[in-house]
Amino acid sequence: VVVGIVMWRQPPQHQEWKGAGTTAHFYEIILGRCYTYTQIVRPELGHKDCQKIGKAFTDAFLSKDPCSSTEQDYQPLMELTNQTVPCDKTLLWSKTNELVHEYAWVQRELFTLENTLLGYMADGLRWCGDPGSPEMNYQSCPDRWKDCSNNSVSVFWNTVSKRFAEDACGVVRVLLNGSVHNTFDERSTFARVEVFNLHPEKVHTLQAWVMQDIRNISSDSCSHASIKNLKLILSKRNITFTCENNYRILQDFFMF
Ligand code: NAD
Repeated sequence: VVVGIVMWRQPPQHQEWKGAGTTAHFYEIILGRCYTYTQIVRPELGHKDCQKIGKAFTDAFLSKDPCSSTEQDYQPLMELTNQTVPCDKTLLWSKTNELVHEYAWVQRELFTLENTLLGYMADGLRWCGDPGSPEMNYQSCPDRWKDCSNNSVSVFWNTVSKRFAEDACGVVRVLLNGSVHNTFDERSTFARVEVFNLHPEKVHTLQAWVMQDIRNISSDSCSHASIKNLKLILSKRNITFTCENNYRILQDFFMF
């Protein structure tokens, strides 16, 4: 009697989440971006070890529960990617993703988080692991609203945004969107993390530039209730607040 034993390999069984999975070729992308940034964009960071940085990034979330991510998980990565942004050159943003980066592309001396090594590497990507597997979960990752807020991607952005704000000095700028109802959105990273981690001993002023759709300028955005709230928070923190509607240079820039 011949007994046939059929063996097959099952694909790794990952937990199913409501958000899209890890970006395809995640590791190759972060490694490539690290080399591009440190060799071409900012060659003064050419001494950074991208292999080590790439490993610290994936070590932060692989084989772990993607809903219990912590700041601690990202500490080794944070230490390998420290970078100095000159005083007066920090540019924060909220709800102005495209415009702010077009502007920063022209105003090369200004740094958004995405113009620093770690922000540059991670911008637009998704990632998560699974406690039962050493691999990335390319099928699904936690959605921050439907699954959990302490997911690997959100905790990463909270952690790097916190450091970015803590490190800022001099005048800090923020580009806000005056065409949405919550120009200063209390749920945004800017409001929850960045505003509260500016150090008043180092940052004397927060200068807001509030942009509106130029085809549709109707109101004075700086007097908007949500902006008053921002002003109040900053005055309690001993940081001067200034606000300009449709900042001129940006507006001209927008039109061309
Ligand atoms: P925003 O509401 O316009 O969000 C900007 C982008 O970040 C959106 O794609 C949003 O989905 C994503 N994002 C924000 N908070 C997130 C979180 N907790 N988890 C996962 N994704 C999140 O503006 P914001 O929330 O004020 O964030 C912008 C500010 O915070 C900037 O100053 C920047 O320094 C930093 N930041 C950047 C990113 C990024 O994707 N590059 C993400 C978060 C925060």
